[in-house]
Amino acid sequence: MQSTTWKFYAGTNTIGGNIIGVEYGSYRLIFDMGRVFRGDVPSFDERLRPRSALDLMAVGLAPDIAGIFQGDDRAVSMQTAIAISHCHLDHTGLLPYIRTDLPIFTSTGTHRMLQVLDAVADGPRSPLSYRAVEPEAWVHFGPFDLQFIPVDHGTPGASAIFIKTPDARLIYTGDLRLHGLHRDETERFVTIAKAFRPDVLFIEGTRSSDLGDPSENVSEHDVVRGVLEQTLHAPAGVYFNVYERHPERLHAFRRAASAANRELLLDAVTAYMYHHFEGVSDFAVWAEEEAQLPQALSRWLHDTGIKRVHTADIRGLEHLYAAQIPYNKLHYLIDIQPAQDGRYLHSDGTPLGPYDPAWMNMLRWLDYFGLEFVAMGSSGHATRSDLVNILEAIEPRVCMPIHSLQPWRIGSPQVPRIMPCISHVYSLADVANATVPTASDFNLTVL
Ligand SMILES: [Zn+2]
Ligand SMILES: [Zn+2]
Repeated sequence: MQSTTWKFYAGTNTIGGNIIGVEYGSYRLIFDMGRVFRGDVPSFDERLRPRSALDLMAVGLAPDIAGIFQGDDRAVSMQTAIAISHCHLDHTGLLPYIRTDLPIFTSTGTHRMLQVLDAVADGPRSPLSYRAVEPEAWVHFGPFDLQFIPVDHGTPGASAIFIKTPDARLIYTGDLRLHGLHRDETERFVTIAKAFRPDVLFIEGTRSSDLGDPSENVSEHDVVRGVLEQTLHAPAGVYFNVYERHPERLHAFRRAASAANRELLLDAVTAYMYHHFEGVSDFAVWAEEEAQLPQALSRWLHDTGIKRVHTADIRGLEHLYAAQIPYNKLHYLIDIQPAQDGRYLHSDGTPLGPYDPAWMNMLRWLDYFGLEFVAMGSSGHATRSDLVNILEAIEPRVCMPIHSLQPWRIGSPQVPRIMPCISHVYSLADVANATVPTASDFNLTVL
């Protein structure tokens, strides 16, 4: 007799890169399709590039899943579809290598983001067979019904994925939070998830090592207030970095610039994404390096006539601007020669933290040019205590924590749990036998 099974191909104890396959009969649905940095295997970079997914597979950077990657000629009898929760690289990084005939289900918001990223040369580009699905609409693939329910994660289209098979109900949270500007979306997800009565909840656990007081968590509202405060009281230059896949964050800088009578000055890629997702165009764009922009960007700048500003234009006039300078454009500071008492608001652009070698270099650049570093970010991930509340509210038959360095820290003594193992084939029999974790199971191990 046919029944639902599922297994983890990758990412059971990393932040992102989680790849789960659900099978029923001769059909399989696989989600997500990302990559994460790993320090324990040879890797590729800007100079040393993989020729295909086979190279990634050979060194352990892509899981060995027959029949889904371009260049893999192994015959498989399974009908396969991919589903993607949101457009962060730890969930989409393997898409450029996926066979172009496989259906790829995403929310309409994620699909739009992937297309805009393609236009600015930062997307998967390969002509993939996307199936964009409206929020909360059910779509079908063989024996699977699936649905994308929006969650707040700080990027357009972020969704949880609900899956129904003839005998099982599964929910994958994707990445989510409760301290963003759209807390109501995540709360609505929780309500719908509870009513769904899932057998299994695959829940993210990025902030598993949280120890502190949840009230110290920096919310998106705190960032909005902080950016305004910093910009209003800056005596000289205000510079910042942001993550271009979170265009809504730019509103905080736009409002602050306006309140402080400064002009918002953006990098071309960020400006393009802000315009396309938030419909805003009352800003200026750096005029440097215009000749190297992707065609869609040059055309857009030309068609809209958006004001261009050269680095030389703002030297001595820094008090008139709030200007984005991404890490790869820090050399603009050489032209600007910032005056004393300038500041650099670090707002979740790369480098993200000290684990990135570029982090120390960024600090050296800021120090050299006398700019004060000001942390101005808000995590896209729920606090550990919010995750526990979400889990207890949904009450799945079991939870399986993923997307976490210490997944055993995610859970509740009220909810049976199965700790996922790579390649193990799970079934509803495992759900029936699952037990609740005890308090000692949540111990923090210092890595
Ligand atoms: Zn993630
Ligand atoms: Zn994410």
